[in-house]
Order: sequence, then C-alpha cells, then structure tokens
Amino acid sequence: MTSTQDIILLGPPGAGKGTQAFRLATRLGLPHISTGDLFRQNLREQTPVGLMAKGFMDRGLLVPDEVVCEMVRERLELDDASSGSLLDGFPRTIPQAEALEGMLRRLGRRVDCVLFFDAQDATLVERIAGRLTCSGCSAAFHARFAPPKVAGVCDHCGKAGLAVRSDDTEAAVSARLVEYRTKTEPLLSRYTKSGQLRVINAEQPIATVENSLALALESN
Ligand code: AMP
Repeated sequence: MTSTQDIILLGPPGAGKGTQAFRLATRLGLPHISTGDLFRQNLREQTPVGLMAKGFMDRGLLVPDEVVCEMVRERLELDDASSGSLLDGFPRTIPQAEALEGMLRRLGRRVDCVLFFDAQDATLVERIAGRLTCSGCSAAFHARFAPPKVAGVCDHCGKAGLAVRSDDTEAAVSARLVEYRTKTEPLLSRYTKSGQLRVINAEQPIATVENSLALALESN
C-alpha cells in the first residue's frame, strides 16, 4: 500500500456514496471531497462558481468539465489532501477522469481504487425520494432508512436545517440519471480495464455496504 491514498466513489445518484463517504473519510483519515458539496457551499456563499453551477444543478445537468476540474485541482492542493483524498462524485466524465490522472500525476500520486456503488434504478428513486440533506455540513439522511436522532436536526453538526435538496425534484432526478448513463457510466469500462474497479452491492443496508467497502479496500 502507498503512503497516500486516493480513492474514488463512483455510482449513480442516490446509491449512497455520500452516506458512506462520511463514515469512510473518518475511518481512513482522508478528506471527503464531494464536488456536489463544494458546489452547494459555493452557492451558499454566492461565489461566481456557485451561481454559475446552480443553473446546471437545478436542471440535473452536469456542470462543465473545466469548472469542476479547476475546483478539484484547487481543493487537492490544500494541506489536508496531502495524504490523499476520498473523491465523491468526481470524476463523472471521461475528460474529468483524464484531468484527475494529470492532477495526481503532478503530485506523484495515482488513483488507488475506484469503489463502484451498484444499485437498481428502483432503489435509487426510493432513496432520493426520502433524502434529507443538512444545509450546514451537507450530511445526508433518509426519512426511513437513516433518520437523524432528533427530527430535523443534523447528527453531525447539530444544525436544525435538514431539508430536501432543491435538485431532488422528479424532473431533475430523471435528468441526473440520464446524465449518469450517458456520461458517467463509460467510466466503468475504463476502470475495469485498468484493474482499479471494485464493485460494491449498494442495494444492501448501510452497515452491510460499509463492511463491503472495508473488505474491498483491505483486499486492494
Ligand atoms: P451530487 O451532490 O454529487 O449529487 O451533485 C449535485 C450536482 O452537482 C450534480 O447534479 C451536478 O449538477 C453537479 N456536479 C457535482 N459533481 C459534478 C461533476 N463531477 N461534474 C459535473 N457536475 C457535477
């Protein structure tokens, strides 16, 4: 195993990447870098990147590659990412994957492992339908499968601001699934060929998926 670790969480919207990323990042001591969270944070702060991304996010479309890649490049240069990263929701296109390889190469690193969250469409729709997201720290909850300890209050940061994401509407979710199938799914064959892909059955309950991820990383 290398001293740094760069791990990608790949999968369709609603597969549980965010939920697992929170747990995994703490366990591995890696920063959780979610491009969706970074855009939502930019939007809360009304930055040009956030305002520009909003139009794409609300329609369930991917933000242009150049914008995402620049944001990730800057994020990977921060001190806490010097020992590696847990990338959640990036890369989502082939050009993003190529850009990431270049960024890591320049840092003397490479992608160590790609954990693919495999789940059926019916499961994704069910999970997105009950999803609640913290407006403070972006932690994800589910009204039925992973409710917060106190209704409406985030277990992680304590903020009373759990809400349905503005892009969790039926129209935006269908668009996100189409974007996923056409632009993100091609990454599967790329990472299968490179031997980096580990398939995780994301249909299982949260604790079982957590164990599967740990096993996949141990055998890496
Ligand atoms: P997520 O929180 O990962 O579901 O992302 C929410 C939205 O942010 C997506 O629907 C896109 O509009 C945008 N986004 C997040 N990550 C990316 C990415 N890697 N490439 C393009 N757009 C992204």
